[in-house]
Amino acid sequence: MKVLLISTYELGRQPVHVASPASALLDAGHAVRAIDISVEPWDPADADWADAVAISTPMHTAMRLAHNVAESIKQRRPELPVAAYGLYAGAALDLGDRAPFDRAIVGEYETALVDWLDDRSTEPALSVHLDRGGFRLPIRTILPPLDRYARLAIGGHKLLVGAVEASHGCLHMCRHCPIPAVYGGRLRVVDVETVLADIDQQVAAGARHITFGDPDFLNGPAHSLRIVRGMHARHPDLTFDCTVKVEHILRYRDLWEEFAASGCLFVVSAFETMNDRILELLDKGHTGEEAAIAVHLLRDFGIDIRPSWLPFTPWTTRADIESMFRFIGTHDLVESTDPVQMGIRLLIPLGSLMLELRELEPHIGRYEPDALSYPWSSEDPEVDLLAKTLVEIAEAGVSSGRPTVDTFLEQWVAVVEGTDFASPPNAIPQGATEARPKLTESWFC
Ligand code: SF4
Repeated sequence: MKVLLISTYELGRQPVHVASPASALLDAGHAVRAIDISVEPWDPADADWADAVAISTPMHTAMRLAHNVAESIKQRRPELPVAAYGLYAGAALDLGDRAPFDRAIVGEYETALVDWLDDRSTEPALSVHLDRGGFRLPIRTILPPLDRYARLAIGGHKLLVGAVEASHGCLHMCRHCPIPAVYGGRLRVVDVETVLADIDQQVAAGARHITFGDPDFLNGPAHSLRIVRGMHARHPDLTFDCTVKVEHILRYRDLWEEFAASGCLFVVSAFETMNDRILELLDKGHTGEEAAIAVHLLRDFGIDIRPSWLPFTPWTTRADIESMFRFIGTHDLVESTDPVQMGIRLLIPLGSLMLELRELEPHIGRYEPDALSYPWSSEDPEVDLLAKTLVEIAEAGVSSGRPTVDTFLEQWVAVVEGTDFASPPNAIPQGATEARPKLTESWFC
C-alpha cells in the first residue's frame, strides 16, 4: 500500500513520530512518503498518490491542525482512509459523523498502524495501545533536513538540533497532563541501542545538540544514564537538554554532576505555579519552595533551568500571578522563561484527570468538540482578562523582536497595575544572558 504520513506540529523538532512509524511501515512492505506541514506547504493534492493517510497527533495543537488537514483530504477524496495516531488521537472522533477520520490509534501506535493498513485490525474505530518494545530505528531521510527546525541558540551561535525519545508515557499521574489519561502511570522505554543509533544518524546529519523529548527523562534514571554515557562516549562534544520534574531533579541529585560533564546544558522543568494548594490540586509532587531549590541545585553544576508554567487555573488569583513574576525576577529566570508561557490557561481535554476534582465543578462548562476541550472560567473574571492581556503583550513582543526582558517587565507592570502589589524593578539583572542556552522556538502543547 502507498501510505502518506503527515506531521502537523512536533514542538519545532524533526518529527520522530513520523520517522518511527515510517520504519515499521516500510518493514511491513508498504511504500511511505512523509510531509511535515510545520515546515512544508500543505496541498491536499499531495494525498492523491496515497492509498491511506495517517496523521501524527502527539499534542493538542497537532490534533487541532490535523483536523483541518484531514478535512481538506476528505473534501478531495472522501473514500481515502485517514487515521489519527498518537497521544491525542482519542480526540479525532469527537465530532462523531462530522469527524474527518476513519480510525484513531492512541498510545503506542506502530503495530496498530501496520494492522490497520493490512486490514487485519479487528479493533473498533478508536483503540488504545500500550504495547512494549519493538521500536525500530526511525527513518529520517524521508523528512526535511535538520536545518528546517528549531536550533540551539548559545553564545551568539545557532546550532542544529536533533531530537530523540528514550521513553514514552510517565510513571506519574499529574492531573492536568494528558499522558496519565492514556498511559495510566506506565512507562514504555525505547531500547538503548536504538536511541543511540538514532542520535548517531542525526549527528551525521549535522546535529550538534540533542533534545531528549521524553515526557520526563528521569522516569527511568538507570536507562537514561546508560544512554547519556553511550552518547557521550560516541560524541564527546555533543550537548543535550532534557525535561525533568522538580521531584526528580531533587531525588536524583547525584546524577547531575555526570550529566553536566556529559554535555547537559539545560533542563526544562514544569514549575506550573508558586501556589502550593494549586500544585496539590494538580498532583505535581512538589512545592514552590522545592522549585527554588531545584533552580540552585542545577546551577551549582552549571546546568541552566528553563521552567514551564501553567499560570492560569480556575483557582488562580492575581496574587498568584504576581508571586510567579516575582519568583522569576528574583531567581534570575527572565531569560530562561518564554513570555508566551505567562498567559497559558489550563487545558481540559476529554478524559482529563482534572475531571475527577470536585473543586472543578463550579467552574467547568460542557465539552466543546470543536475546541477539543472543556471551557472553564476563573473564580475571578478579572483574572481571565489578565490572561488575555499577558498573551497579547507576549505576542506583540515576539512579533516586534523586543528583548525578552522588556516583554517580561511590561507583563509584570500589567499584573500589578491598579493593585497594592509592589512595582517591578526598573531593570532586572540579566546575568550572562548571551550565554544562556535555549531553543529558537517557543513550544505549545
Ligand atoms: S506533567 Fe510530567 S511528570 Fe506529570 S504526568 Fe505529565 S509527564 Fe509525567
